[in-house]
Amino acid sequence: MTSSNLRECQICARMIRTPHHGCIAKHGYRQPRAWGGNRSGTCLGSDYLPYDQSCKAIIRAIEITRKFIAGVAEAIEDMQASPPEKLAMTRRPQEALKPTVYLDRPDGFDPHDRPAVYTPRTYESEFWSLFNDRTRAHRDATGDLKALKERLSAWNPPFTLDSNHQEVVDRSTALTV
Ligand SMILES: [Zn+2]
Repeated sequence: MTSSNLRECQICARMIRTPHHGCIAKHGYRQPRAWGGNRSGTCLGSDYLPYDQSCKAIIRAIEITRKFIAGVAEAIEDMQASPPEKLAMTRRPQEALKPTVYLDRPDGFDPHDRPAVYTPRTYESEFWSLFNDRTRAHRDATGDLKALKERLSAWNPPFTLDSNHQEVVDRSTALTV
């Protein structure tokens, strides 16, 4: 592998091995929560052209992230509008083989009033921990979306492409001459 085989991924901005004249290779990524549809841990920039040639992967990632944000917002709204009657208790590692325990929603439970402290392994604790996870996911995804949009707006179309739209002239060289 030579440095000329390394091209910038549209999504993660890392330099990734790229077969000659092609799309960048599959590679992993620290999985942003927002891209929950991509749980394999494969970067969404895999199999797309590099950043200096295309921004399609970014556009797709923005769509996925927007959908995710809308879904999480809805889930948060739902759980507050009508808190589930039962919640599964999170298993401890040593309980992995035990049957799931369900916790009933207590009478008078207020899904809008988070207490300062609550007892672990109760409905309240499961509810608010789920609420926290979703709120965090929403916040992270909103940050991801902002970063993706910045990266898209910073994108410049290729300076020049050959007839096959596969090879881009080195822009840094072209621009300094
Ligand atoms: Zn990547």
